[in-house]
Amino acid sequence: MSIVVTGSVNVDFILRVTALPRPNETITGHDMAVAIGGKGLNQAVACARLGTPTRMIAAVGDDSFAGQATGYLTANGVDTGAVTALPGVATGVANIFVAEDGQNMIVVTPGANARLTPGMVDAAEPVIAGAQALIVQLETPLPTVRRALETARRHGVLTVLNPAPVQAGAKDLFTLADLVTPNETELAALTGIDGQDDASLTWALQALIDAGAKQAVVTLGAQGSAALIDGRLVRVPAFTVKAVDATGAGDHFNGALVSRLVAGDDLVSALRYASAASALSVTRASADSAATAGEVAAFLAQ
Ligand code: ADP
Repeated sequence: MSIVVTGSVNVDFILRVTALPRPNETITGHDMAVAIGGKGLNQAVACARLGTPTRMIAAVGDDSFAGQATGYLTANGVDTGAVTALPGVATGVANIFVAEDGQNMIVVTPGANARLTPGMVDAAEPVIAGAQALIVQLETPLPTVRRALETARRHGVLTVLNPAPVQAGAKDLFTLADLVTPNETELAALTGIDGQDDASLTWALQALIDAGAKQAVVTLGAQGSAALIDGRLVRVPAFTVKAVDATGAGDHFNGALVSRLVAGDDLVSALRYASAASALSVTRASADSAATAGEVAAFLAQ
């Protein structure tokens, strides 16, 4: 059993400031932290930490960040044989300002992520063919995401589309998805249906299925998650924990969910496990917060 993740690799620079700068203003920050991230990388690391053999199809640049990112993947057990280093290109970077009042300002420079091509996916076709599931998100070009989904479909590999961030044309990919996993904001953007009550969620998830997805799940932060199973809304509560940093919760949730699906769990059991794995991750301040299988087992045994 194995998973292939096609998606983004970013280096995040997190700068803590008293207040966000205004145009033309120079300010002094309190501190700076560097975190290796990107939705694709986060999801791949989440799968690998849980013990699932995981490979990544991605692009990095030829700067010093590229080695940091691939080194981080390798250290976490992710196979980087299909990660391409592009000469003369910068690795994806996110510059994140966080003010004391919690407001933030983010500039993402996709760099190599924008140059992940369908041809790179074609070159990695054996990697997809050899996996049980493919996970994709939308931080890389849509034609590349589409090619990955089509390739997986051709080989009978389970296709999981985490439609984040939502971009125009995202819904055209749904016919290629066995499972779509938006969060509540993404679900509203995709369907125009807002609201966490059962009726709204049922309509919205049904709209994703009507658009071609075989199954649809929504994550609802501290409210847990929900799936539409045989037309009926099934809610899976979140675990009650002291949340410290919810960054990446959705990525850890997706990695855990698909890890359990390839292990043979049914959707509701896999959602419960993903709730536990992501609950553990939100209790940790660091961006490097994905849980291991042993940690999730201990948490569930409490
Ligand atoms: P995203 O990071 O994409 O916005 P969510 O915020 O919906 O995703 O979180 C994904 C999952 O992580 C939720 O479905 C839930 O299981 C878990 N989670 C998120 N926030 C909390 C929290 N405060 N307490 C417990 N679990 C949480």
